[in-house]
Formats: sequence, structure tokens, C-alpha cells
Amino acid sequence: MQDTKLFETILGITTPWHVARVELKTNDQRVDLWLEHDATRWPCPECGELMAGFDHAEERTWRHLDTCQFQTHLHAEIPRVQCPTHGVKQVRVPWAEPRSRFTLLMERLIIDLILQCSTVKGACAIARVSWDEAWGIMSRAVARGQARKETRPIPYIGVDEKAFRKGHRYHTIVCDLDRATVEFVAEERKTASLATYYAQLTDAQKTALLAVAMDMWEPYIGATRAGLPDGDTKIVFDRFHIMREMTKAVDTVRKQEHRMFLRAGEDSPLTGSKYLWLFSDERRPERHADAFATLQALNLKVGRAWAIKEALRTLWTYRQPAAVTRFFTRWYGWAVRSRLAPVTSVAAMLKRHLAGVLRCVKHPITNGVAEGLNSKIMSIKRKAGGFRNPTNFTTAIYFHCGGLDLYPR
Ligand SMILES: [Zn+2]
Repeated sequence: MQDTKLFETILGITTPWHVARVELKTNDQRVDLWLEHDATRWPCPECGELMAGFDHAEERTWRHLDTCQFQTHLHAEIPRVQCPTHGVKQVRVPWAEPRSRFTLLMERLIIDLILQCSTVKGACAIARVSWDEAWGIMSRAVARGQARKETRPIPYIGVDEKAFRKGHRYHTIVCDLDRATVEFVAEERKTASLATYYAQLTDAQKTALLAVAMDMWEPYIGATRAGLPDGDTKIVFDRFHIMREMTKAVDTVRKQEHRMFLRAGEDSPLTGSKYLWLFSDERRPERHADAFATLQALNLKVGRAWAIKEALRTLWTYRQPAAVTRFFTRWYGWAVRSRLAPVTSVAAMLKRHLAGVLRCVKHPITNGVAEGLNSKIMSIKRKAGGFRNPTNFTTAIYFHCGGLDLYPR
């Protein structure tokens, strides 16, 4: 009987449960333990009322932490009670969550391994569980975390999109900008994708939501207008997206000008200069300073486009609505007079959405946090080694970025 007592201690098994039998299969490196219980009354899992056991469910097996590298499996027949209110129910066992095939401690270990390992496969190899088992544990952990999550006010959110696979469909990702957590994931980027998020907020949460940082993406704009009280006044177009559009415009001007030189049969001074124009002024590495100054002195179209782009960055330094409006009017005039089509088209887009652009003065938020989360999401994609379906991708985002309490108790 010594070994059963030892295992009871290791497993933390207490009355009414005890280890009835231990089977050691040395060749298979495996220990099997059978748990049995004394006669007792059990609480109904729904209402907690104590009652006599009704019968037992079929024997079940749980994978436990290894015992000296021996895979350890628990077996037990779970008692069922017949509650007058809730009918026939399996009672809760202290070592595992309902429906899990792992004990609490094993599940905790696997969660930690998936969080820490650079790949899910690596975690699977260490824990000697299958890919499907690891995903099952991840999705249960996420469901558990979400069920425990409290409704709390979130003043600032960022809405962003993320490709599930390159050139594939997009996920909509809603982040809490203060906490840098992913609050919500939808597997498309339609109006309904974001509307679903707003719909599940309480009225108090909707009122507490002060501003939403987003791209100038009509479905998100529409969903926010319709889904929040005074929704239109909560939209803040994100600095990162706007500057990305401007940088793209500079790059297009460069390409067009470069081709113009080549078509005219001349040497293009822009050959090999692509990256020089993508840097902002203070991010450009010192070693490129001379090359850039030389190009700037040529008074090229791309040089003008770049200067207009750089000037736009000042917009986010203003703190007074009147001042930022004056600034934009001047900048817009300059951009339009440049007659560089890619630049004027971004300027026109900003003007069309001006209220949401200038609202950055009132709510100086950006998806910068979300961009940080995006790079985390990139690493999640690498970590998983490709997702079999969009739902697994969603699960992984919540698992790693949701700020959830994932552990079973
Ligand atoms: Zn009951």
C-alpha cells in the first residue's frame, strides 16, 4: 500500500478520494493510477445541494504531470447525482476541470509551456502531447479567461486589421490602448465585424468609450457611427495609418520620376534611392546624410513630396483646435499646389475625413500600441507555424494577447 499513499501525497488526493491501485509499465515508461472514493454525499455541480450518489459514469482517463519521466495517467469513474432540480449530473472532481482530459496541474504546465516556448510544436514535444491536444488546451484556456473577464470601462480602443495569411483574408482586431490587450477579434473586416464588438458592450461601457483610433476604412467608420452614442465624434484617424499613406505617396512619386528619367534616356539619380525616401528626417542613418543632401539639392519631385510628408508630422504636435486647423489649411494648400497626384490624393482623403483627423488634438491616441501588438501577432503566426484555420489564429491571439486569466483552478 505504500506506493498508493505516496501517490496520494504527490497528487494532493484527499478524502473521499484515494488511490486504489498503481500499475507501473516500465517498458512503456508509464504509470497508471486508479482513483476510487469512499461512500459519501456529493454536491450537485449546479446548485451545490448534497445528495447520495446515483450511479457512475464510465471510467475516464486524465493525463497528469510525469512521474520521473514516466507518463502518468489517472483513471476514475465519476459519480453522478440525480438532482431534483437539475437532473442527472456528474459531480466535480478535485483534480480536473469538467470535460478536460488533463489534470489541473498538467493543464497549467502545458499553458506555461505554450506561453514560453518559441513554437507550439516545441511545447508539444516537451509535454509529449499532440498538436490537437495543445490547441484544445489553448481554446479552453481562452474560453475560461473570457468567462472570468469583468466588464470594465475602456476609454480608448484601437481598431486594426491583420492578414491571417499573406494576401488572404483579414481579421479585425480591437485593442484596449491603455492596457495593450486584444479585447476582440473578428474573422473579417466588414461593418458587422466591428459592430459585433460594439453590440456586446454594456450601455455604461459604450458611454465610457471616449475615442476609437482607426484607419480610414469605411466599414469601421460606419460601424462606429452606428454602434456608439455620438459615434461620429469618437472617431480618431490614426497617425500611423495616415503617415503610412503619405510615405506610400512619396514612394509612388519616386517611382514615377525614376521612370521618367529612364524613358528620357537619361541616368536616373534616383537609382537605388528607395529607402532614403522612406526614412523620416531623424530616423535616417547618419551614413546616408550626404547622399540624401545631394538628392535634395537636385530639386526633384520626390524631394518636394518628401518635404510635404515630413511637414505633415507636425500635425500631431498641436494641442489647440484653432492652431491645428490653421496648420492643416496651410499644409493642404501646399500639398495641392505641388500637383503631385499621389500627394494631392492623400491630401484630399485627409480633407474628406478632416474632423476625424484633427480630433487627435482632443484625444491624442494612436494605434501605436496596436502596432506593437501586431508585431506580437506576427510572432504568434511564426510560433504556431501556420494555422489550419482562421479560428485557431483567433484563439492564439486571445491566448497570447488577451490579458486573460488562462489557468484552471
Ligand atoms: Zn442541483
